[in-house]
Amino acid sequence: MSGAEALARALDAARELGRSVGPELDGLGEDAAARRALGALAEVGLTRWCVPARFGGADAGELAPDDAVSVRALCALRAELAYHSGMRDVMLVMQGLGSYDLALAGDAELAARELPAVAAGQRVAAFALTEPGAGSSLTDVAARAERTAGGWRLEGEKTYISNAGIADRYTLLARTSGAPGDRDEDAFTMFLVPGDAPGLTVERFEVMAPHPIGTLRLAGVELPGEAAVGPVGGGLPLALGTLARFRTSVAAAANGFARRALDEARDHLRDRRQFGRPLASFQGLRFDLAEMDVRLRAAELLVDEAAAAVDAGAPGAAEVARAKLFATEAAGWICDRAVQLLGGRGVKRGEIVERLYREVRALRIYEGTSEVQKLILAKEILGS
Ligand SMILES: Cc1cc2nc3c(=O)[nH]c(=O)nc-3n(C[C@H](O)[C@H](O)[C@H](O)COP(=O)(O)OP(=O)(O)OC[C@H]3O[C@@H](n4cnc5c(N)ncnc54)[C@H](O)[C@@H]3O)c2cc1C
Repeated sequence: MSGAEALARALDAARELGRSVGPELDGLGEDAAARRALGALAEVGLTRWCVPARFGGADAGELAPDDAVSVRALCALRAELAYHSGMRDVMLVMQGLGSYDLALAGDAELAARELPAVAAGQRVAAFALTEPGAGSSLTDVAARAERTAGGWRLEGEKTYISNAGIADRYTLLARTSGAPGDRDEDAFTMFLVPGDAPGLTVERFEVMAPHPIGTLRLAGVELPGEAAVGPVGGGLPLALGTLARFRTSVAAAANGFARRALDEARDHLRDRRQFGRPLASFQGLRFDLAEMDVRLRAAELLVDEAAAAVDAGAPGAAEVARAKLFATEAAGWICDRAVQLLGGRGVKRGEIVERLYREVRALRIYEGTSEVQKLILAKEILGS
C-alpha cells in the first residue's frame, strides 16, 4: 500500500472517530477525557503516525522519504481531528512531540524500547522545555542536570507542560553547563524522565479550553547515564529540530478548528431567520463568510507548502513560520466571526463555536508565539 493510500484510510478512521468518540468525551473529567481520547486514537492506529516506521510507526511510504514522521500526514490528521475535538488533536500530537527527540538522536536500545509503546499509545509522552523564567527564550532555561557516579541528577522547574501528570515519560531540556542568560547554545541536553521518577512532582492547573497541563518540579531526580537523549550539549538543536518538524501541524490544527467554525456559521446563516428572511440573505453576513473562506483557504495552502518543504528535507524555516503565523491568527479571527454570526448562541456554553473560540486561542502561543514566527520570518527575509 502506498503512503497516500495508508493515509486515506487513517483519515477515514479519524473522521469516523469524530462522529463517535467526540461527543463521548464531553461529560468526562480532563484526565479521563485525555486517556479515552488517546485510547481511541491508538485503537485505530492513528498514534502510529507520530513515530517513524522503524520504531513501530505507520509506514508513510513516499510521504516520509527519510523515514521521519510525515508532516503532510500529521497535518491532514490534525486538521481532521481538530474539526471534531481539540482533546483528540492534542493527545495525538503529544505522542510525537514528546518522543521525536528520542527517534532523532536517542540511544538505539532506549529508542527501540520506548518508541513502539508510544506508537501503540501504551505510553503517554510529553515534551518539557518551558520554565517560569524561560518561554520564548530557551537559552534562559535554568533546570540543571549534574553528573553523578551513576548518571545524572536533575533540579529545576518546568511549566505549561502538556500531559503533565498523565505522561509516562517526559523528554525534558536541562542545562548541563553555564548559567541562565549566557546565550550559549551548547549548554543544554535533552533527558528522558520517567513520570514516576522519585523527586518529580506535578502541580496541575487549568487553561481556558480542556487540555491536561501543569508544572513539573524536579528535586534531586536521579537518572541513569543512558537517559541523556543525544549528545551532551546537543539538547537545544534537538529540541528546535523537533519543533521544526511538528510546528506546521499546529497550523493544520488551527485550520481544522476554523473549518468547523465556518461550517457552523454557514449552517446558522441558512437556518436562522430575522426581519422575515434568512440571515444568509444579508449581504454583510455573506461577505463575512467569503472572507472566512478565503483566509482559511490561504492558510491551508500555506500549510501544504510548509509540510511539503519539511517532508522534502528542506529547513523550511520561512514556510513553516508563515504557515504557523497566518493559520493560527486566521483561525482566531474566523472563530471570532463565527461567534458573532451566531449571535447569543455563539457565546452559550455547550455551543460548538463557543468551544472553538476557546480552543483555538492557545495555538497562537505554544510552539513559538506569533511574534516569534515574525522574528523567524524577518530573519529569513533580511538574511540576518
Ligand atoms: C496550552 C499550552 C500548552 C503548552 N504546552 C507546552 C508543552 O507541552 N511544553 C512546553 O515546553 N511548553 C508548552 N507551552 C508553553 C509555550 O510554549 C510558551 O507559553 C510559549 O513558548 C511562550 O512563552 P511564555 O508563555 O513564557 O511567553 P513569553 O516568552 O514571556 O512572551 C510573552 C509575550 O511577549 C512576546 N515576546 C517574547 N519575546 C519577544 C521578542 N523577542 N520580540 C517580540 N515579542 C516577544 C511573546 O510573543 C508573547 O506575546 C504551552 C503553552 C500553552 C498555552
